[in-house]
Amino acid sequence: MRINGLLFDGQNSRARPAALYRLGEQVILEYDGQSRTFERKDVNVLSRLGSAPRAIEFPGMMRFESSSHDEIDQVFGGLSSFIHKLENNTQLVVISVVTFVAFCVASYLWIIPATSRFVVHKIPQSYIDKIAQKMEGEWGLGESVTLAAENQDKLETITSRLTHSFPGQQVRIRPVEMDGMANAFALPDGSMMVTQPLLELLSTDQALAVMMHEMGHVTYRHGLQAMAGQMIISVLLFFTVGGGDFTAIGQNLVGLSYSRRHEREADLFAAKHLKEIGLKPSLLADGLKRIEKSVSRRREGAGGLPTFMSSHPLTEERAKYLKELD
Ligand SMILES: [Zn+2]
Repeated sequence: MRINGLLFDGQNSRARPAALYRLGEQVILEYDGQSRTFERKDVNVLSRLGSAPRAIEFPGMMRFESSSHDEIDQVFGGLSSFIHKLENNTQLVVISVVTFVAFCVASYLWIIPATSRFVVHKIPQSYIDKIAQKMEGEWGLGESVTLAAENQDKLETITSRLTHSFPGQQVRIRPVEMDGMANAFALPDGSMMVTQPLLELLSTDQALAVMMHEMGHVTYRHGLQAMAGQMIISVLLFFTVGGGDFTAIGQNLVGLSYSRRHEREADLFAAKHLKEIGLKPSLLADGLKRIEKSVSRRREGAGGLPTFMSSHPLTEERAKYLKELD
């Protein structure tokens, strides 16, 4: 296909009639009865600006202009013509945006959670153990600490009551030191950590309620779900918007929604199992309240360690629904 237009040779402002066509990776430019061949990569096709003549730049400051927009798009092809069509078709733009937003919302609400719930049950145990080991190393959990006799008794009571509530499930609670803070959490491999200050601070029933909540995280594999969700959002964002800053934002959003949902799931799990053994769900709220007080008193100087309350903020809403479940 030949495209007719005008050529400005860069020497003077006079325009002369010219034509160009393409042969594979070569662009042939004809003017003044002569024919010159250029490599496609040396020819710069400028984007289309409304209906103004389109410019094509050649080496040596030569500039070819033509209003045959569709022909230029056909010869040089590509994205610019697609975007231009989009620009000229408001309806198409609206539909594209709505579809994209709907896809994001669906991903956020259903696709990512459902996929990560599915994925976590396919992860081999050896890999899960490796992740847990790495986390233990990063948090400097080290060896188990020796508990004072009364705290040791408390821990044994809690472990045996949990074992009783969850027959067939291995209950592993390890006493560790974390900056002298009252803290408890579950690792992805299902083992749970608790600190001496937590056992000291809470009654046996309150500590049991807190560990029931952690059992909820273990049973639902929440830690792994969050990791899987963040991996999925990173991949999705990489393929839709190229990743970059969006990855961190997406991961934070997924992290936030997960933590809220997972805390609620673990709370309801604890509430159900506490009631089964004749205890009140509000024990969990009481325990969390105590930990919150002690942690906020110690917050200065706590360093960058994840505190119990940073992942378990006791909101009014949480305390309220736990009380209502009594
Ligand atoms: Zn939790």
